[in-house]
Amino acid sequence: MSYENPFPDKPSASKAFRIMECHSSHKAELAAGDVPEDTKDADAGQDVHAVLSDDLSADDVSADAAQTAEMCQRDADKLLAEWQVEGSIPDGLKELRYALVDIGHKIHVVTARKGLLGNVLFTGQFDLLYIQGKRGLLIDFKALHGKHPSAIENPQLMSLAVLVAKKHGLESVRVALVQPWKGKPTVADFGADGLALAESLLLQVLADERNASPDDRKAGEHCKYCKARFTCQTLRDKTIQDLDLIRPETIGGDANHQASVIFARMAELSIPQLIHIQENVRQIMSVFLASHAAVFKQAVENGEVPGYALKEKSGRRKVSDVGVAFARAAVHGVTAEAFTNKCSISLKGLNEVVKDATKKKGKALEVLTDEILQGITDTGKATFEVVRVGSLE
Ligand code: SF4
Repeated sequence: MSYENPFPDKPSASKAFRIMECHSSHKAELAAGDVPEDTKDADAGQDVHAVLSDDLSADDVSADAAQTAEMCQRDADKLLAEWQVEGSIPDGLKELRYALVDIGHKIHVVTARKGLLGNVLFTGQFDLLYIQGKRGLLIDFKALHGKHPSAIENPQLMSLAVLVAKKHGLESVRVALVQPWKGKPTVADFGADGLALAESLLLQVLADERNASPDDRKAGEHCKYCKARFTCQTLRDKTIQDLDLIRPETIGGDANHQASVIFARMAELSIPQLIHIQENVRQIMSVFLASHAAVFKQAVENGEVPGYALKEKSGRRKVSDVGVAFARAAVHGVTAEAFTNKCSISLKGLNEVVKDATKKKGKALEVLTDEILQGITDTGKATFEVVRVGSLE
């Protein structure tokens, strides 16, 4: 499969942002070893990448993945049309991993494969690269709805630009982040000076990473996907220190009383304190709670926590065969109308059954599903979330 990395123990482009923020995180992850991860989102994203790289056909993946792949491809085609200049036809390369290698104190970039000569410093895999003469267009697909820095401030794309420029002798590289569910692609252009600067920044970050000790850990939102997050003392300390503002441990009484006191304390905080919580505590809290739950459950499971035990909760019962349920209920006079009034179907489920029945996909499937849904959907009440000015779309 195209996602296999022959150098999983070396820093990579997908981790560049975290390594920049927390120089020790790569070593901390190696020390943490394998930790259980929820791979549901990653698996869905992989299907989209597999369609885009021709490893799978759109018919082999869910309707959602096929539609996302088609949207990504549409954006990529547009980016290519805008970027290419008259003359030679650009060469296209898909899903290749390159390695930055130190051979006799000289830095080279080669295709990553096991058994390389020299010391591998860093690797990075791109999704799509077009080369026309000394110019490059590098496209990174983000198939899901997650938050990613735009191309101009994206260390993953910056480091990939360095790798492809060095490997192919390019003098300029346009990097583009395609995330169709979040809007139009964002792009950034690296000329010769920009590439030289990006390379020296990357080499500095890699040197910082090599020289980092556990004291160089720095916690923040980047901890979200760090494998060391379950055991990292720096992350724990930061969360507790940020929570000190409202000092929940000093509140007595029952849970209702504690909740009202916390609310009252929040209401008294100054604007800078509220901004501090918005930017530091809120984002890190979910990481803290999830990490705590996983570590605590493990300790209880191992019998290390006196007074606690695991209690099995039975799963929710649901009807697995609606057709049979209706046939059996109809015998007792339940009408189809009364029955379907109580049923609901997700938009994704509807998309899938329409796709199976009609064999349509992409735009044609989207149009047909829209027709079927005409006038029969409700949109919930709009909600508001606080965002920084500048991130409003
Ligand atoms: S959890 Fe955060 S602070 Fe700890 S090593 Fe990972 S990135 Fe660094």
